[in-house]
Formats: sequence, C-alpha cells, structure tokens
Amino acid sequence: MERKREERKKDNSHTIKSVYCETVEKFKNVEIEEIDSQVKLLMEHCFGVKPIDYVLNPDKELESQNYDYYIECVNKRCDRIPLQHIIGKTNFMGMDFSVNENVLIPRFDTENLVEKVLKICEGKKVLDMCTGSGCIILSIAKLGKIKSGIGIDISEKALEVARHNKEMLSIDNVEFLQSDMFDILEKNPCNNKGFDIIVSNPPYIPTGEIEKLMREVKNHDPFIALDGKEDGLFFYRIISREARKYLVESGVLALEIGYDQGESVPQILKADGYKDVRVYKDLSGLDRVVLANI
Ligand code: GLN
Repeated sequence: MERKREERKKDNSHTIKSVYCETVEKFKNVEIEEIDSQVKLLMEHCFGVKPIDYVLNPDKELESQNYDYYIECVNKRCDRIPLQHIIGKTNFMGMDFSVNENVLIPRFDTENLVEKVLKICEGKKVLDMCTGSGCIILSIAKLGKIKSGIGIDISEKALEVARHNKEMLSIDNVEFLQSDMFDILEKNPCNNKGFDIIVSNPPYIPTGEIEKLMREVKNHDPFIALDGKEDGLFFYRIISREARKYLVESGVLALEIGYDQGESVPQILKADGYKDVRVYKDLSGLDRVVLANI
C-alpha cells in the first residue's frame, strides 16, 4: 500500500529536471528555436526556478498548483505565441520592458542603435520617433544622462505600454506623445524646439516580405510596427525630410535599418542634404545603424 502510493507519487512527480526535459522534447517536436533558454524562462515565470537551480536542485519538486498554468504557457508557445507575450515582458539593454500585442517586441539588434546614441547623448534633448514600447528612449534616459526625451507613436495603445515602462523604470524626464509621425511637432510650436538627436527604429519591412516572416512575428507583432510599405523605405523618407526641421544645427539623426538597406537609406539621407552619413554593422556583420549629421 505504502509502496504503491510512493510509486504513484513518483509517476506524477514534477521535478525541475523532469519538467525541463519533457518541455524540451515538446518544443523539439514543433521546432521551436533557442529551446534551452525558452524553457528556462517559462519555468522561471511559472515556478520561480532560477538558472542555478538546474545545477544545485535538479530533483526538487515543483509547486503542483502552478503546473496547469505552466502547461497552458507551454501549449501557447507550441502554438507559436511569442514567449515575450506569454510572460508579458522582455529584456532589453539589461532591463525588463513590459510588452503586449500592441507593441513590437524590442529586438536585441536594436541595442546597437541605443549603444551608438548613448555615446553622444549626455545633456541632450532626444526625440524617439515610432517609439512603440518606449524601449529606445527609456533605455537612453536610464543609461545615459540626457536632458530630456520625447517618444512619439501613432498608436495610443502602444503608448500605454511605453508609459507603463516609464513608470516601472522610474524615469521622469521622458514624455510620450501620440502623433502621426511629426504632425504634433508641426502643430505645437512648444513641443518642437530643437532636438539634439532624433532616433528611430521605424517599420521597415516591405509589405510583400511580411508574409514570409516567422509565424511569431507576422501573426503577433503589430502589422503597423513592421510594415514599411511597398519598398520598406516609406518611413525613412518622411523622417529624412522632416527631421531636419526639428534638429538643432549640430543635430544628429540615428536610425536602425534592415540588413539590406545600408545603401538605400544613406542615399535618401544624402539626397536630403545630410552630411557625414555613416553605416554601422551589428555583431553578425550586417548593416544595422545609420548616423547622419544635419
Ligand atoms: N521603437 C520601437 C522598437 O525599436 C518600435 C519600433 C517599431 O514599431 N517599428 O522596438
């Protein structure tokens, strides 16, 4: 009798190691990428398991009341819902940012752009055009010593996320404004006093390419945050034309670009009269950031 109970307990037992291994198998079957880190993030989210626990306590029993919720999360991931949407946050520049279906999930690639701006932003007034979750302007404000920042986005729902992130990071020198690109600056002279830096990671995927992206991206990132219209360059043209009006004389424009836009975007900027247009590569050796002076 005792033994049977023991055996049953063993069968139903959910240890760190057994749950980890089961989930790895499930994710392999549906070809999820970066399985190890994805499983560990889900286990941390649901059970509070830390990376060190896999080494020190692999046979530790997990809280059984959280198991159903864990399986729900695993199934969502198998349905290709991005992990960041399941756990409601992502890490960017070493900080947690809340995300949901109304904002583009901040990408590791975008840290390249932030790092470039951090080198030149001390004491500056910075505008982040198409701010989304606010990840760019908020990390610049948190890690650099900017004077003040403004983040603009067309989506009020995205701005709700950005404002929440601002609060979580206790930042008080950044303001978020709803506007279709530069409209609000044109209409309100009080907002439009010279910026030292205008930074942007605008939507830059050509419409026809979106269908070919991973399911996580094309079905869950907001379409308007991806869509750079016909040739992907729609927003760069607007930014290039308009940013000049709102930059101070020594102002800098800093843009993230797609890996194949290292010629087209500089061309647009040069045609609009920008000087010193330089392209920087990311860690994979792909063109990723463009800086230009007015
Ligand atoms: N600026 C935000 C980011 O980099 C949103 C970008 C976008 O919506 N295209 O994550």
